[in-house]
Amino acid sequence: MRKVALITGGSRGIGAACVRLFAESGYAAVFLYRSSDEKAHALVEELRGKGLDAACRRCDVADGKQVRETVADILRLYHHIDVLVNNAGVAHIGLLTDMSETDWNTVFDTNVGGVFHVTQAVLPGMISRQQGSIVNVSSMWGEAGASCEVAYSAAKAAVIGFTKALAKEIGPSGVRVNCVSPGLIDTDMNAELDENALRELADETPLGRIGTAAEVARAVLCLAGDGASFITGQVLGVSGGLQI
Ligand code: NAP
Repeated sequence: MRKVALITGGSRGIGAACVRLFAESGYAAVFLYRSSDEKAHALVEELRGKGLDAACRRCDVADGKQVRETVADILRLYHHIDVLVNNAGVAHIGLLTDMSETDWNTVFDTNVGGVFHVTQAVLPGMISRQQGSIVNVSSMWGEAGASCEVAYSAAKAAVIGFTKALAKEIGPSGVRVNCVSPGLIDTDMNAELDENALRELADETPLGRIGTAAEVARAVLCLAGDGASFITGQVLGVSGGLQI
């Protein structure tokens, strides 16, 4: 039976790299996205054109009702979900003193609420089948804290706490929960960083460069699969050795 991976935020960046890699690795790769219809459908077409199994649904992970309906729809079609990658996220750069409550809520509703909604919708099926694997995408800033990214850092720290606690709660069901903690990765999320800032961060990184979305996807696939069958509740840094 073909394994099914549900990936949130699969239209761009790290999520799109995960969709490609999981589909190329034999999974049916189903992904959620917020608004990039064109990119999402182009990715599905690209993968189907190679004979791979991929599908997408437009779904705001911050909206619990939308998530429950969308996951139910996916389960009607695919019957089971073996791997969940909670990747969808948004950043916010600016001083905490300037931050509006709306922006604060958007960061938390997406990065933390999204993980809660999608996990809660997918978990009952995994628990009843006594198998499944969840990989959450946090950030090195969730571990270290970043100036001018207080809300983002706090939200990503919450994702780490969520991972560790849920791993203990559902370990007896045979379902694993882990987390990747990427460093600086070349995606749209960093489009605002100028060349100097990017070069400085690359220089501070032991491997001397920023990472690619495909490199994070490989770490996610590794944690998701049977090769990691005795690994749960862990946070894997994917940062080229950068430890701030
Ligand atoms: P990105 O290129 O900006 O892509 C974000 C993805 O999330 C898009 O597919 C977007 O969909 C989706 N998304 C955003 N809000 C959503 C919502 N409410 N509902 C559903 N989908 C939503 O970001 P990225 O750099 O690939 O980041 C992916 C994850 O890695 C995030 O959790 C981020 O915090 C984390 N991360 C990134 C870095 C980095 O340096 N890039 C480092 C550490 C951690 P649309 O295309 O439809 O907007």
